[in-house]
Amino acid sequence: MVLLGPPGAGKGTQAKRLADAFSLEHLSSGDVLRAERASDTPLGRQVARSLDAGMLVPDEIMLEVMLSRVLRPGAAEGVLLDGFPRTLPQARGLDEALEAADGQVDLAVSLEVPDEVIEERITGRRSCPQCGEVYHERFHPPLRPGVCDRDGARLVQRGDDTPEVVRQRLSAFHVQTELLKAYYRERGSLVELDGAEPIEVVWDELERLVRSVKSKAAR
Ligand code: AMP
Repeated sequence: MVLLGPPGAGKGTQAKRLADAFSLEHLSSGDVLRAERASDTPLGRQVARSLDAGMLVPDEIMLEVMLSRVLRPGAAEGVLLDGFPRTLPQARGLDEALEAADGQVDLAVSLEVPDEVIEERITGRRSCPQCGEVYHERFHPPLRPGVCDRDGARLVQRGDDTPEVVRQRLSAFHVQTELLKAYYRERGSLVELDGAEPIEVVWDELERLVRSVKSKAAR
């Protein structure tokens, strides 16, 4: 299963629940890259160079890093991909590798969230530099404005969470994602869900969807 959605769409939250509920291995490209970078190998050093430069990791490296994990047989009943594929060559490379292993992408879910909602979610985000706790000015405010409930540290805003940078990140995201959505739509595996709904509502729909795809695949 592939999960698509802009930053701030709630992918991380839903991915974790899906993985637990359906025994799926959750592979987040960001987490995989950070782990790869921490390993002192030639591949890890290549990954580090892209990340430090704030660039996308080249497709060949992305495929090398992700496919070995996707294809590694584990105890999980399937794999849930989050953050990968991000480009068409990555999507094609994934399909080729899965096909060779008698597998396929059964479902690609796009969490649709209007830009205004994303901007509000991201620009209101504040975190504690000491303990890492994340707050939101409106949706999850600390007891005292600007101060961490746990340790009293002054809350900070991530450098890339400002309105201008968020707008830039979103426009780059839309260009890429529309291509991916068209790719999966053509293959009949795309489902679009309203990600602006509350977490529980999105979860109910996702759960129903995955259940039905699983029962079809089992037949
Ligand atoms: P994230 O944690 O998803 O924000 O990812 C952190 C960084 O990893 C991104 O800014 C990209 O540089 C890189 N990255 C994550 N996924 C991919 C991907 N599928 N293709 C290329 N680069 C990626």
